[in-house]
Amino acid sequence: MSSASGFSARIVRWQKSHGRHSLPWQNTRDPYRVWLSEIMLQQTQVATVLDYYTRFLARFPTVVDLAAAPLDEVLGLWSGLGYYSRARNLHRCAQDVANLHGGQFPPTAELLQTLPGVGPSTAAAIASFCYSERVAILDGNVKRVLSRITAFPGDLSEGKQVRALWDIATAMLPRRNLLDTMPRYTQGVMDLGATICTTRQPACQQCPVQSICEGFALGAPERFPVKTRKLRRSAMALSLLWAERADGAVWLERRADSGIWGGLYCLPVFGTEEELLSNLPKRQQSRLHAFPPFVHVLTHKDLRLSPMLLALTASESKAAGFSDEGAWFGRADWEVLGLPAPIRKMLVQRARTQ
Ligand code: SF4
Repeated sequence: MSSASGFSARIVRWQKSHGRHSLPWQNTRDPYRVWLSEIMLQQTQVATVLDYYTRFLARFPTVVDLAAAPLDEVLGLWSGLGYYSRARNLHRCAQDVANLHGGQFPPTAELLQTLPGVGPSTAAAIASFCYSERVAILDGNVKRVLSRITAFPGDLSEGKQVRALWDIATAMLPRRNLLDTMPRYTQGVMDLGATICTTRQPACQQCPVQSICEGFALGAPERFPVKTRKLRRSAMALSLLWAERADGAVWLERRADSGIWGGLYCLPVFGTEEELLSNLPKRQQSRLHAFPPFVHVLTHKDLRLSPMLLALTASESKAAGFSDEGAWFGRADWEVLGLPAPIRKMLVQRARTQ
């Protein structure tokens, strides 16, 4: 295996001169800011996170402010970032920090992992950036870099192989001057994975660790990381009941916390058009107007959405709603309510054309 000290020293040097330095969550040792960015960056690109991060910090300058906010407001600000369980955990974590830890994030990676939504890699990122703790992260970028550097043969769809790579990641950490080197190393190895050692066509000619990279020496860096089990994409069709009052307000229901769009407000969702129809009286069924179906792409799933518009009369809209979980919401609410991105887009587009 490549020399651990040679690797970390090169990464630290390279990070100083070539790494990313100007992202808004860098150059800080504030665990609240680092934690917020790490949660947002899970499964989301930097370019997308930038705006959300700025808006969250403007609205919730401290973890205590975030803890005190209603969950609906947090989901509203999160709307469009996807993976909404992250937002719910974010809120629960802020409440734990505020209520169980006196408003201060715990001071070690081990303790940070006791917080909701904080896994070993996120805990390690916070601890290394903020406390210079000698602890290894292993997110997707770092798995790729380390498996290539060491030509790691294990299949990373198996937990025991991930643990073995984690041991290697720990052995490769800096050993000296940790106050300075740990944050730089952690940032550097992330940056290398994001900008040079990319999934396809890594820029090995510009890489600071090319001379000790075993994957490169084999002439086949893209063979690593080894993963035999691939996540298969799935598809799902959903019919949406778009009940609208004369003033433009629509009926939105809060979805269960688990499952697709968990905890968000949404048009009533049905598995099939028949199921949707069976929830309406006959006189309303005949007035439904079907919009063209469209596909909304999630990371591992394609959603085929079929919205059905039902314009309600004044007396119908005064009658009880469609369920206990919903209410009528006007245009001003759509901006602040946690809505799935395609639903918000549909509502806003229609409002503009009216
Ligand atoms: Fe990745 Fe190529 Fe650098 Fe190896 S030499 S770490 S494969 S970019």
